[in-house]
Order: sequence, then C-alpha cells, then structure tokens
Amino acid sequence: MNIRHWVRPDIWEMAGYLPGEQPDAARPFIKLNTNENPFPPPPSVLQAMAAANLETLRLYPEPSARPVREAAAAVYGLEAEQVVVGNGSDDLLTILLRTFVAPGECVAVPEPTYSLYHSLTQIQGGRFIGIPWEPGWQLPMESLLACHPKLLLITRPNAPTGHAIPLSVVAELCQRATGIVVLDEAYVDFADDNGLPLLGAHPNLIIIRTFSKSMALAGMRIGLAFSSVALAEQMHKVRDSYNVNRLSQIAAVAALQHIQSYQPALQTIRSERDRLTLALRQRGFQVPESQANFVLAQVPVGKWGGREWLGALREAGILVRYFGQEPALVNHLRITIGTPEEMAQLLKQIDRLLDRSVAPSGE
Ligand SMILES: *Cc1c(COP(=O)(O)O)cnc(C)c1O
Repeated sequence: MNIRHWVRPDIWEMAGYLPGEQPDAARPFIKLNTNENPFPPPPSVLQAMAAANLETLRLYPEPSARPVREAAAAVYGLEAEQVVVGNGSDDLLTILLRTFVAPGECVAVPEPTYSLYHSLTQIQGGRFIGIPWEPGWQLPMESLLACHPKLLLITRPNAPTGHAIPLSVVAELCQRATGIVVLDEAYVDFADDNGLPLLGAHPNLIIIRTFSKSMALAGMRIGLAFSSVALAEQMHKVRDSYNVNRLSQIAAVAALQHIQSYQPALQTIRSERDRLTLALRQRGFQVPESQANFVLAQVPVGKWGGREWLGALREAGILVRYFGQEPALVNHLRITIGTPEEMAQLLKQIDRLLDRSVAPSGE
C-alpha cells in the first residue's frame, strides 16, 4: 500500500513551510529566531486577559470578531466594515489566496521574502512567480507585472531583509496592477511610515497587520486585514465562521485600546536595532539598514559560512534564523532584536567566536 495515491499530487510533491524553532521552555535560549517581541504586553493588556470570564468559553465567539473590528477601526481611522480579523495574519494570507486566486492563476512576489507565500500558493494550486529584488533592494516592477498576477504580495518592511520600498512605488504598483496588491505590514510598527494613507486611493490594495511582533501576542494568533468594504465582504465569505477565539478577541481589543502603552518597548527595540546594526558592521558583518525588529547580517569573510555561525551561536545558547535553502542567503543570519541585555550577550558571544571563524585554517 502506498499512501501516495491518497494524497493530492501537488501536496505530495511540495516541501511544506518550515517555521523557526520554538525550543522547549526548559532550555533557556536567548531567542532571536522568529521576530517575537522580547518584552511582554503592557500590564493593562495582561489584566484584561486575566479578567476574562472563562465560563463563557462554552459559547462560540462573535463570528466576525466585531469588537476587534470596531476597536481597530477607531485606532486606524477606518470603518469597522473595512476590517477582517484573522487567526494570525497567516490565516488572512490563506483567506486572500482562497478569495482571489483560482487554480493555475499567477501569484507574484519579489524574492527573498516571507517564504510562506510560496507554500500557501502551492496549497491553493496557484502559479507562483518569484522575481529577485533588483540591486539596492529595488522592486522588480516590470517582471512582477509580466504574468498579470491575480495577487501581488509585498512585505513592507520586507522579511528577511528589513528594507522598506518607498510608498510611492507601492502606489505605482497598485495603479498598474490588474489584480490585488497585498501589503504585508507585519513589521510596520518598527518602521518610519506605513501604507494606510494609500488605502482610499487604491481599490485593489489590501493591508495586513499582525499582533505577533509589535504587540507581543504571537501566542494569541491575531491579525487584521484592511481593505475596501467590498473586498472585505468577499473575504468574510471565505474565512472559517469562528476563526478568532474568545480569548484572542479580548486580548486584541485590550491591545488596541492601550496601543500607546506599547510605545516605550517599540522605542527600545528601534534603538537597539540601530545599535546592533553599527556594532555588527564594526565586526565585519554586512548589514543593510533595517526598518523592522530584526537585521539581516552577512557574516564576515572567513572559514565560517552562515550555517557554521548558526551552529556556534546555538551552542552558546543563542538562536538566530538561517535560510540555507535560499541561495542568495547562504552566508546570512537573520537576528531578531531582543532586550538590551540579550543584545549585549549576543555581541559578547560574537566577539568570542570571531577569532575562530575568520582565522585562516591551521590544519
Ligand atoms: C510573522 C509574519 C507573519 C505572520 O504573522 P502571524 O500573525 O503570527 O500569523 C506574516 N507576514 C510576515 C511577513 C511575517 O513576518
């Protein structure tokens, strides 16, 4: 018996998305590998969650997460009908693929970018077109538009590079695209600007946000999509009827109501990012300017490539992310910004390892 005959051929052939490691809580790693927030949510948000009446969990949640949509609309200056809430923004990405891309239709992205886009396109039977970024991390606009994509996915700031393309380029892309343009703003709270002001002028633009990074709620799984009311209506048809659970809705509303309380942590992360960028450059790493809560560091020329650095840092108790399957990134590490103490420890370990990694091999 071969189970292969039971599985869709395209699913059988695909590799599947590989999330970053979530280590056992028993092992105290400094965790700089999945871009989580190193600080907990503000006390006001934790208190709202602790005060939840758990007996109500026997009841289904509000199907469309209306309280979350209303709180988000108030914060971001939108109508509640323009907001769709997801079980994380990964859920929203699945909803986008299922709403807009029929089997065989084209999904175009600049690469490298968030690799889940590829997996989700494969699962939906779409045709995935990945176009390399142009030098200086410029958007390869002509090539992206060449297949007349039903969906263009742009992460801004981009992962894992950290760069943010100019908003004027996003606007031009929306103007020229015949399909939907998705701006994935997972890291936008760490950036200098955001795409919300473009929403009114571009009916094909959808912006998605997550509570997993800046809002320190990755474990609750909450994401938001902003679009025209007409597009939101179509996405509501596709999502699971109760896709956001009761506790997550409570956490999301509290986070939005206390959004100012996040500012000190966000400010610390931004300044640690800029400090780490300089410190790594001084040590021979090549680090492009980042607008996110991580940096992409090309390791110094020497005996060690990215994989060796990954292993040596892991032995020293520090987890970072390595994308060895991406040829353009073999000698790069993506390092999440942690607390000032974690960054000091990272640099201390890097200094200790530098001799071993760059000295010519003695054997
Ligand atoms: C982390 C991340 C997400 C996923 O966010 P969740 O809300 O945790 O599902 C989506 N897009 C990008 C670019 C990310 O980096």
